[in-house]
Amino acid sequence: MTNELLKKVYDPEYFKKTGKQLIEKLGDHIAQVYENPPGTVIPYKEPKDSLDFWNAYLKKGKSEHFFEEVLARSTHLHHPKYIAHQVGPAAPITVLTSMISAILNNGTAVYEMGMVTNPMERIITELLAKKIGYDNQSSGFLTSGGTLANLTALLSARKAKVREDVWNKGHTKPLGIMVSEEAHYCIERAAKIMGLGEMGIIKIPVNSAYTMETKLLEKIYQETVQKGIEVFAIVGSAPSTATGIFDHLDAIGDFAIEHNLWFHVDAAHGGATLFSKKYRHLLNGISKSNSVVIDGHKMMMMPGITTALVYKDSRHSNATFSQKADYLLEDSVDSDWYNSGKRTFECTKNMMALHWFSLLKTYGEDIFNVYVTYLFDLGIAFGAMIENDSQFELATQPKTNIVCFRYYDSQKDCDRLNEINIQIRRALLEDGEFYIVQTKLRGIHYLRCTIMNPFTTESHLKALLVKIKEFIKELK
Ligand SMILES: *Cc1c(COP(=O)(O)O)cnc(C)c1O
Repeated sequence: MTNELLKKVYDPEYFKKTGKQLIEKLGDHIAQVYENPPGTVIPYKEPKDSLDFWNAYLKKGKSEHFFEEVLARSTHLHHPKYIAHQVGPAAPITVLTSMISAILNNGTAVYEMGMVTNPMERIITELLAKKIGYDNQSSGFLTSGGTLANLTALLSARKAKVREDVWNKGHTKPLGIMVSEEAHYCIERAAKIMGLGEMGIIKIPVNSAYTMETKLLEKIYQETVQKGIEVFAIVGSAPSTATGIFDHLDAIGDFAIEHNLWFHVDAAHGGATLFSKKYRHLLNGISKSNSVVIDGHKMMMMPGITTALVYKDSRHSNATFSQKADYLLEDSVDSDWYNSGKRTFECTKNMMALHWFSLLKTYGEDIFNVYVTYLFDLGIAFGAMIENDSQFELATQPKTNIVCFRYYDSQKDCDRLNEINIQIRRALLEDGEFYIVQTKLRGIHYLRCTIMNPFTTESHLKALLVKIKEFIKELK
């Protein structure tokens, strides 16, 4: 190489020196966050201030401060007072596998560029298939996020179930999918991308426990068919994002079988419950599904983003993007599994299988049992704490690590209570000691916590409630 700038870019000594320093710094960062948490989880700044900072930094900042600035200005997921979103603190070993993925950059789509990860993906998804209760016709692959995985599964569903060859000929008739009103917004987005339109998203109401009201399925299905819409799939949430409540997969599965619908389970958040001895029952009926989505970066301690999409019949995953019509499922289960690009949305994708494989190999699958069980237990304990406190009210009894609650006072009307809860959440954000989020359910504003961090304990959650009470006093 003759160009000096390129030589500098690829200098291995630079990589070794800066890399060692960075690993030290990141190690110190997580050690501090675990053991002696600094004041804030989230160093909140207004968007405009963040934009101004990075503009100024690009022009005049010192490049040797780059990593420090990134760390100082980010939200700290390893902090025990991070109880907000569903993305969890990555296990350090998966931080290292991210680095290997980056340096090898083996794109995975064709076998020669995925000689390590294509076999790993097969092993991982076959393990998940077994846990789901599928038979040995099953397989799957890893893809970039739950959103993309749900879209892919619904495309497979359309190919498998719709009478017409939509993939090649386009839409000619109205099609529809049935889904709980509490499903993640990406299901609706997928349906819209697929051209189903508003009328093609048939929303099933939830009952007071925020689970899909399966008693209504038959009636709504018949009404939809009467309108001339061909329903081809039904989606169950395991659990739904806002409330952490699981749909009754068993009942949905029976309904799907009866009407020859594709049954897709969006287990982006809760798929890891397959490994939890204590909570596996929440997924009863999942084996009746045709496809399941499980995020590694939610309840499986991996860095974003990596998602398993598992099919009951692996031939459907081969058919999704093929030119052949679905009824020509002549491929064997084994067909070309080692060229995963034929089955995934992505062409190039990162070596995400390394995260799954390293966790399984290093710690064994019990690590997922321990992790999920601890966090669900803690969510339920937090629910009890809230229930026993007259100043707070639960949206619904938590069944997982997602807890929605609000400050409540029977003397105040709903609008006033909404205002106060919005103010509480804003005050928490600006304070930064804790990070939680919020959600609206049936017009009521709730504070929403997702307990993702195994370093979080009941005492942190008690401290959160104390802090909220201090804010309430100031509001009065
Ligand atoms: C988080 C989530 C998604 C979206 O997954 P991403 O990996 O963030 O794209 C979809 N469905 C459910 C139920 C989720 O909880």
